[in-house]
Amino acid sequence: MAYDSRRAVLVLIDGARHDVLREMLDRGELPNLARWVIEPGGVTTGTTVFPSTTGVAYIPFLFGRYPGSVGIPGIRWLDRRGAAGNWREQWRAARSYCGVQGGWLNRDIAPGPSLFDLVPESIAICTPLTRGLRPGANRLSFRRAALGAAAHYAGTYPALDRAVAQAWLDTAGESWRFLFVVFPGVDGISHLQDPFSSAVLESYRLVDRALGAFVRRARKNGDLPAFFVVADHGMTAMHEHCDPAVLLEGDGVPTLRHPLHVWRRKARVATMVSGNASVQLYFDPRSGREHPLTESEVPASIVERMLALHAVRLVACRSDAGGVVVRTQDGRALLTESAGLIQYQPEQGDPLGLGGYVELDDRDLLSRTRHTDMPDAPRQLLQLLQNPRAGDLVLAAAPGADFRGPWEIPEHRAGHGSLIAEHMEVPIAASVPLPEAPIRTVDLMPTMLERLDVTVPPGVVLDGVPFSKIAAVTEPVVR
Ligand SMILES: [Zn+2]
Repeated sequence: MAYDSRRAVLVLIDGARHDVLREMLDRGELPNLARWVIEPGGVTTGTTVFPSTTGVAYIPFLFGRYPGSVGIPGIRWLDRRGAAGNWREQWRAARSYCGVQGGWLNRDIAPGPSLFDLVPESIAICTPLTRGLRPGANRLSFRRAALGAAAHYAGTYPALDRAVAQAWLDTAGESWRFLFVVFPGVDGISHLQDPFSSAVLESYRLVDRALGAFVRRARKNGDLPAFFVVADHGMTAMHEHCDPAVLLEGDGVPTLRHPLHVWRRKARVATMVSGNASVQLYFDPRSGREHPLTESEVPASIVERMLALHAVRLVACRSDAGGVVVRTQDGRALLTESAGLIQYQPEQGDPLGLGGYVELDDRDLLSRTRHTDMPDAPRQLLQLLQNPRAGDLVLAAAPGADFRGPWEIPEHRAGHGSLIAEHMEVPIAASVPLPEAPIRTVDLMPTMLERLDVTVPPGVVLDGVPFSKIAAVTEPVVR
């Protein structure tokens, strides 16, 4: 079967775990993925971005950038200047792409071309990121909003996924060069139940059947496009809901937070949750101060309070001298980047578990951290905290814990958002050859552009590297 190099399809199974996908492949339960994608290409486990959450973690695929590179530090964040304004500005400043502000995600992303801009003959199905799509190319956006809202509460994700499958099939006879297809069901049902429940597994099978139906119809019209099947983040069951906002309020610290307390009077802290297993704290949210705080300006008592929580895997903030300070209850290290090298300097303990001082370039450090409990943590903390919109203090949750209280309706039994491996690791299947070395989701867009023979315009910087340019890395040097 010939594959048409001028066309590509990116299928995003939101929240798909790499191990679940592989086990189902091994059992022969995803025959179309095996035959039409993995057989001519391959499958691997890559890593996503921090915070590892829907929407934010779509940015690498469609912009080739880290969220911190384009000013989207989370699914919720605080616009420091706006938060000092009148009541209307305060509401706007407490950004949450989970509700009515959802569409603002597109305009909040810093200027720069999307994949849709670079490949104007694009069609997208059920995506919250739509920037650059031509009129008529944004399919199921209304259904996503309507069914998505209903699905969040009523668990009607299979209906939404079936609508996606049908819209996908309908494109088989159309002319396009890039197709972006999002299946929200695995993520949605996992949140309500568990990442391994039978209804979740059925959602993987639904995607596979949709792929089979699309291939059958597409083959009648000619060659098959290149296929890329990916996820934006992993997922774990949650056993502990630890809400820092509730704790801080209990300590007498008024805390601005979603959904009901964005106008919290005399707020001293704002907590912005993503995923729900990560949260960013902004201090003195009504000060109107635009620049983020560095370590010595962050209230030490609150840092200690957060570090003492079982739910916290690590805390990070900007160092006074540049770079990022990483802390755990008994560890502290400094991350810096200069002359193309990233330095990890443990000052106490070894908070990222790298075994001591490390100085490596970006790809070697990815390899070096790949099998730790927080893959790619140095790059991910640096990319996030480089952005002034990111909070003064960033928390990543430990396995099994998240940062929203049990008050959330419906209760999230599973989640994501943290830097831990089970949230960062994602399946990446492609009908094109995959490199031996570790890859990130941010490498997909350059790979697809190369495949489509579209050159990145001069002056446009991408954070990823095409698969063809990722060499297998030899044993990284540890000093
Ligand atoms: Zn989710």
